[in-house]
Amino acid sequence: MVGPTLKWKYIIASTLLILVILSVFSWQNLRIQEQQIAKDDEERVKLITDIIKNGLITIMLEKRGREFQKFLETLIAEDIEEVRIFNENGRIIASSVPREIGNKIYDKDMQMFLTQSEPEVFTHRENNKVFYSMVIPIANEEACKQCHFDNAKYRGVLDVEISMDRIINRLQLFRYQMIIFSALAVITLSISLSIMTKHLINKPIEGLISTMKKAEAGDLSARFKTTRDDEIGKLSESLNSMLAQLDSARKEIEKLHYEEYQRIEKMASIGELASAIAHEIKNPLAGISGAIQVFSEEFPDNDPKREIIDDIILEIERLDKAVRDLLNFARPPVPHPLLTDIRSMIDRLMNVISSTAEKQKVDITLDIESDVGKAYLDPEQLQQVFLNIALNAIQSMPGGGSLLINVNKQDDMVVFSFKDSGMGISDENTKNLFKPFFTTKNTGTGLGLSISKNIVEQHGGYISVTSQSGLGSTFVISVPMKGIIDDQA
Ligand code: ADP
Repeated sequence: MVGPTLKWKYIIASTLLILVILSVFSWQNLRIQEQQIAKDDEERVKLITDIIKNGLITIMLEKRGREFQKFLETLIAEDIEEVRIFNENGRIIASSVPREIGNKIYDKDMQMFLTQSEPEVFTHRENNKVFYSMVIPIANEEACKQCHFDNAKYRGVLDVEISMDRIINRLQLFRYQMIIFSALAVITLSISLSIMTKHLINKPIEGLISTMKKAEAGDLSARFKTTRDDEIGKLSESLNSMLAQLDSARKEIEKLHYEEYQRIEKMASIGELASAIAHEIKNPLAGISGAIQVFSEEFPDNDPKREIIDDIILEIERLDKAVRDLLNFARPPVPHPLLTDIRSMIDRLMNVISSTAEKQKVDITLDIESDVGKAYLDPEQLQQVFLNIALNAIQSMPGGGSLLINVNKQDDMVVFSFKDSGMGISDENTKNLFKPFFTTKNTGTGLGLSISKNIVEQHGGYISVTSQSGLGSTFVISVPMKGIIDDQA
């Protein structure tokens, strides 16, 4: 399932964030505004109450007391709902609701109205309507005593009730405005964000993706062109340079592949030719060798001609080895692994090389791990590898030296190492060492190490060399103890 795109993730996240921030700020603003409006209204109620009170006092001082009722009735307009006057005994003497004139409130309430220190505006609910109320006592001032001859402290109480509908409507309107403003802000911001992300992020990313897809499909010449110098610009620069490098690396690999293919083809035909020639040489060579042996028996041991015949036999053996190497190289034999005792394999090797080593003044030291035991390998083929490496080592020490043969187990591998103190191998030659026909010897075929590598790899192992010119070389052969599955066996 394909998830939302980066653009939509970004827009949704930003919109939600804006929505939360706007809601918090709007809510806070609404609360402040509500408090402000409530405070303003309370002030207004106080002012209205004061104006009414002053109006009443004026009417009284003008001795038009009978006009109270009329005055109160004219006040009922807009949000002034009810106005009433209590006399000092708590009886209603004038009211904007005429039917309640004569009613009396509890003395306790009256007492409370008269003794309040600072008259305050309070709210109360009646018939699902909310009112502001303010009750203020009317003091018996000196001027009042012109008509009222008692010493009462108050002449009565004025009760003004103002509907809160106005403020509730105002607040409601304010809330709606707030919601509309927030919604508009969120919509505008979302649209702007969507346009911005499309141009700033989406388009270039889509361009980068399509370039990468082209490259993925094999077109490494694809590039993403942009004039931007921001992160997108840097990203496309890196992508383009990576693609350029990949392109040139691929061309290089293709060139090497082609060269390698041509080399393999050439090698294959040379191999075929060599193997055909080797076959042709092998049989007559065996005949010549047999005939020379018979011929040599006709001469007594001390005859000087015997030496010449020995040289001929040696040369024939060399030719025979070269022919065998060629055939081995052209058609490598498949290994037939047997459970082989490793120590006895090394002992056999020692029997073969010890006289040559002695002649060359090369000391051979064996260091074989005591419990090296047995391994599944083709003893004939590995013997050929060891012989080739050991003889190379001996030949690298014409003035004598030492050869250390070390055998040990490492995990499930058996590791053979041949360390000589010979002339060593230059870095340049090390690169070509395992290539067929590479030799530095006049009489060499240059096939020994190539065949050895092939044999070791056929056993599922590997061969490596470390060398220092003038100090000696170490060849290490590792083969699996349990051998490889021999499906041809
Ligand atoms: P060949 O012995 O016929 O030359 P190899 O494939 O066995 O063919 O060896 C290739 C070349 O590797 C040798 O000619 C020699 O230059 C180099 N070489 C192999 N072993 C050693 C060694 N132990 N010390 C120095 N050079 C070596």
